[in-house]
Amino acid sequence: MQVLIGFQNHLMIKNQLKSINPKNNIELSSWDIPSSNDLKHIIKKTARAQLNWSEIKLTSRLAQLKNLTQLLKESCNEMSILMADEMGKPKKQGIGEISKCAWLCDYYYKNSEQILSDKHIETEFHKSFITYRPIGLILGVMPWNFPFWQVVRYAIPSLIVGNGVLLKHASNVQGCANIIKDLFVEAGFPKNIFNNLQIPSSLVSKVIEHDQIQGVAVTGSIIAGKAIAKISGENLKKTVLELGGNDPYLILEDAELNYAVQAVIDGRLLNSGQSCISAKRIIVTKNNIELFTKKLIDKLRLKVMGDPHDDVDYGPLVSFSARAEVHKMVESSIKMGANLCVGGKIPNFEGAYYPITVLSKVQPGMPAFEEEIFGPVFSIIEAHDNDHAIHLANNSKFGLGAAVFTSDISGGKKIAKEKIQAGICFVNDYIKSDPRLPFGGVKMSGYGRELSSYGLMEFVNIKSIVVENNN
Ligand code: NAP
Repeated sequence: MQVLIGFQNHLMIKNQLKSINPKNNIELSSWDIPSSNDLKHIIKKTARAQLNWSEIKLTSRLAQLKNLTQLLKESCNEMSILMADEMGKPKKQGIGEISKCAWLCDYYYKNSEQILSDKHIETEFHKSFITYRPIGLILGVMPWNFPFWQVVRYAIPSLIVGNGVLLKHASNVQGCANIIKDLFVEAGFPKNIFNNLQIPSSLVSKVIEHDQIQGVAVTGSIIAGKAIAKISGENLKKTVLELGGNDPYLILEDAELNYAVQAVIDGRLLNSGQSCISAKRIIVTKNNIELFTKKLIDKLRLKVMGDPHDDVDYGPLVSFSARAEVHKMVESSIKMGANLCVGGKIPNFEGAYYPITVLSKVQPGMPAFEEEIFGPVFSIIEAHDNDHAIHLANNSKFGLGAAVFTSDISGGKKIAKEKIQAGICFVNDYIKSDPRLPFGGVKMSGYGRELSSYGLMEFVNIKSIVVENNN
């Protein structure tokens, strides 16, 4: 008899990882978990490859990146199908995700030489400058929700600066992890400079403890972030933590409501509501709340849920247990006084589907206010006025993204810059990550930054060189 050690579709069945299609609960594939000796061997091979890689000129490393950009563009269809099967992402959104990966590669291809060039510093010495050197192997512990984007976000900057990369991807997207590994090889990156570790989360600490690991990039929940930061701290390994969010969308007194409604929908339905940056707390001033809610519901009625292979707006959630979690938070918010306007019932057909759900009268203390709901749930919170909206927005343990909707552009800019506690704040649009802009959070949403020049600097030795002329 097989022994169940894991849970939901992050299933680990005795020495194997499995992924289960959330659309029909059918097992897609399974992978053997490496023994501890095999694991050490993979780490050793990657370390060896990294030594050679670190000697290669930056321009040559970037040449492989150009090939990768092309390959991503060519294989986006195949990858979007796999994402639809492994984690339920609507195929058209999967194609968008891969295009964005190609955009990231292109950004770093064009900008890395300038960002990583030595920087002269004026001192009393003959010469002083800063140079950027690799530090070794970087372990990425990644989530399933953007199975390609999250990986390229940490792996590409790490490789460009001359590090080697190990990936512990979420257990249920190992098919995606394997494609990524193959793509690196096909693009001409040296064999073993990027390796997958097909391990459950319980083995992550063993990898972090290994001498060759110099840094850990984590994208995931607060629980995972805390556990990994603890073990990394004990072993003095640098971490970058990209954790959950409960982004407030502030619909201020003078907001253009049709526009704001559309942005809220686009921001919330992306990835069927399973995005770290998503319109999770919709804070609307008293004068606007009735009309805003009506307009929101009218538009949401047109949205189509269904098979992620079809042209739908949202698909199943990643797993049945993820759906149960969402439903529990909705139900307990209702018990605490939230008003169910739309949805809120588990459909009686196959698949981990959860319908669009709109909750009004959401207040601090309820799960729909306090916790990150990973699903298509619209939580509407009433604010007395603009100042109260800002207060409610900051009343959260999270600090990842935020969006402000107002007709007063300079006022909105001031609020975004000076008042909102978040790593990224959009005015009059929904939040999107962008290779040109640093991405990351404050408070329990984590620390460190990915993307842009800041992302290149997280796992490098920023080295000062001072040369005195003693002649
Ligand atoms: P998760 O359960 O925290 O898993 C993320 C990764 O961490 C997986 O590889 C998982 O492995 C591993 N993991 C989980 N618990 C661990 C532990 N105690 N020790 C070591 N590794 C552990 O999160 P998820 O459900 O995959 O992803 C959703 C979360 O990620 C949400 O909170 C979302 O907001 C966040 N996220 C943040 C960003 C950002 O940029 N800030 C972006 C995307 C997602 P297994 O799969 O084997 O459990």
